[in-house]
Amino acid sequence: MERKYTGIILSKYDTGEADRIYTAYTLEMGKIKSIAQGVRKPQAKLAGHLENFVLADLTVIKKRGTGRITGSIVENNFNNLRNNLEALEYALKASDIFNNLVGMEERDEKIFNLLKQFLETLDKVSKDKKDNGEVLFYGFVFKLLEFLGYKLEVGACVNCTSPLSSEGNYFSAEKGGVVCKNCSPKIRNEAPQSYTHGSYSFPSGAKSAEAKDNVSHLSTISRSWSSAKADKIEIDNNAIKIIRIFSHNEVASLTKLKAGKKELDNIKDVLNNFLSWIA
Ligand SMILES: [Zn+2]
Repeated sequence: MERKYTGIILSKYDTGEADRIYTAYTLEMGKIKSIAQGVRKPQAKLAGHLENFVLADLTVIKKRGTGRITGSIVENNFNNLRNNLEALEYALKASDIFNNLVGMEERDEKIFNLLKQFLETLDKVSKDKKDNGEVLFYGFVFKLLEFLGYKLEVGACVNCTSPLSSEGNYFSAEKGGVVCKNCSPKIRNEAPQSYTHGSYSFPSGAKSAEAKDNVSHLSTISRSWSSAKADKIEIDNNAIKIIRIFSHNEVASLTKLKAGKKELDNIKDVLNNFLSWIA
């Protein structure tokens, strides 16, 4: 049966003599895997229409098992961000994280539009020679986590619900948010394997064996950013404010958000900490 999908290419790997297997997130089916036969032959034109994170109209022939991609018409290949090394790196990281967190064939228009909007916005700021790729990237990942059911509590203490004071707060992956000065001594600070999920339940999309398998790659990715630990870590008040802004705004409107290196490094640590915890 021939199917048409609007999809964003998340990853690809070579197989056989000249074939390649592609993973795409589609509007119609969620994440799918399909093979493109002969795509690595020099005369094959299809490969150029299946680059990482292009947005394309895909034609897939599927009987059972892995489908076969027979056509691709590029809707947007995000040329501006491809010509900007920093933006390109964030786009690749974002599609890696997306690929690892999102399970197979779970259709979700909101998540599709989030990824599309992130790429469009990153492309636009690359064209305008702005360098806020990092802010957009973190904004995207926090939004994605939220849409997948991992919403972090940053409005009040996740442990006692008291308002947060301007300093002395900690982020706890185990609790799923920020803990106040008073509660932080009560929060354990141990190696990740001794953590239990406690009362905070994450309605995770990563329940299938496939998704679990994918999530295991994530620790490798997050570790490569910095030495991630699942301990509680100090969180700066400005970082808390920025994470709140991420939650209340679309990625496209984050282009105006200014953030300092200190806050961004803190946000990076929080994100690494949380990603390694859920991995
Ligand atoms: Zn508290």
